[in-house]
Formats: sequence, structure tokens, C-alpha cells
Amino acid sequence: VTVSVDQLFCAASGMCKKVAPQVFDLPDDSDSAVVLVNPVTDPEQVARAKEAEQSCPTAAISLEPA
Ligand code: SF4
Repeated sequence: VTVSVDQLFCAASGMCKKVAPQVFDLPDDSDSAVVLVNPVTDPEQVARAKEAEQSCPTAAISLEPA
């Protein structure tokens, strides 16, 4: 899947990084999350990315079929 974070909606909660640390990072000097791997192909990481999408408090994460 292709993962994207809408920088305008991201509230820098860090939830995505907590749920899927290999897919998302929230750099100390940034006010929005960044995607580390694209597209995500590993099934375990895809599952975590989906969980992060559902956990994001501002619905800033989108997943699309790669
Ligand atoms: S969970 Fe959502 S709001 Fe929080 S850092 Fe990730 S993308 Fe941003």
C-alpha cells in the first residue's frame, strides 16, 4: 500500500509512530509525521499501517493500494 500523511491535518500526536514505528516517524524538529517506507509491502507492516490509519486522532493518514 502507498501511505500518506496529510500535513495539514496531522496534529503530531505521535500515535502512528507508536503503532507502526517502522512506517512512521515524528522527528523532534517537525510538527507532522513523516512516512519512512513507501510503498509498504511487508504484510506485518501493512497491518500496522492500517492500525495507525484507524488510530490517528485527526484522520490524517491515507492508505491506497500500491
Ligand atoms: S497519528 Fe495522525 S495526527 Fe498523530 S502524528 Fe500520526 S499522522 Fe499525525
